[in-house]
Amino acid sequence: MRLHVFFAAVVVVMVAGCSQPAGSTATSPTGPAASVTASATPPLAEATGRAEVILPQGSESPTACDPGEFADSRGICLPCQDYEGCFTSATDMSYFYNVGIGLIENYSQDAFGKRLDPDKWWYVQTGVTGQEPCTKAGGGLATYTDRSYEYCPVDRAVYVGEQSMWAYYSTQGDAAPIVGLAHEWGHHLQELAGIRTRSASRSADTLAQEIQADCVAGAWAGWARTNQVLNESDDLADIAALMKAVADYGPERQHGDLTERVQAFDNGLANGIVACNAYVDWTPLVTDAGPVSVLP
Ligand SMILES: [Zn+2]
Repeated sequence: MRLHVFFAAVVVVMVAGCSQPAGSTATSPTGPAASVTASATPPLAEATGRAEVILPQGSESPTACDPGEFADSRGICLPCQDYEGCFTSATDMSYFYNVGIGLIENYSQDAFGKRLDPDKWWYVQTGVTGQEPCTKAGGGLATYTDRSYEYCPVDRAVYVGEQSMWAYYSTQGDAAPIVGLAHEWGHHLQELAGIRTRSASRSADTLAQEIQADCVAGAWAGWARTNQVLNESDDLADIAALMKAVADYGPERQHGDLTERVQAFDNGLANGIVACNAYVDWTPLVTDAGPVSVLP
């Protein structure tokens, strides 16, 4: 993914963790998160997305970087012109998370003429754990950890763990963790559209929602390709590897198998987000006019 076309969320605010009981289901593209017992301060970092000015491609950077470094659109110098291979440690993901959020904001603005942000994009640092207000499939409150990649419809928040983000980045490549963010954002659109409320107790529908979220991730990738954010050969290979890593085959599975996930992603990629309506039959995710059908 190319450096120079990004603008991204910036502010990282440190706040205390949250906990209150409620009744819905957290979902994750990777299945249940592992429990992490260590505690750190602060427990969560909140990425609050606020778009900044985009530098036109080829425009001069306002920041003077050292030789071999390149300024991104916020003037931060990075030792790379492409995010692939640019970062060397898990803690670098706190920067990259904001890049991804910014790209989803950009897509939302382009697709709907407005930003449809989750209430929070939580970044869970390594070793941090705590309770979400959502319940997990087997009962009890879901736990956020540094392995989380999930959306909680109760607080309308995305929880992303540093270690999962780093694993996707360092194993599948730079496009993979951002596609994962777009998938979780797809769950937020489902919440706004009233899809999740209808289906909270229907397990078969959970699978449909997951496949629809893969389609939304594909729609984001189609936008990213059109806007020359993606380096096609490299990034599509990253995404293909991600799909293999997160394909689900268990009898109690909540996510699509490899064929289902790839087909849904490719459908969104080729045909845009309106095509994603096909995966859930009782409520459209978006209307032909673009916006989500039910807004708060
Ligand atoms: Zn999901």
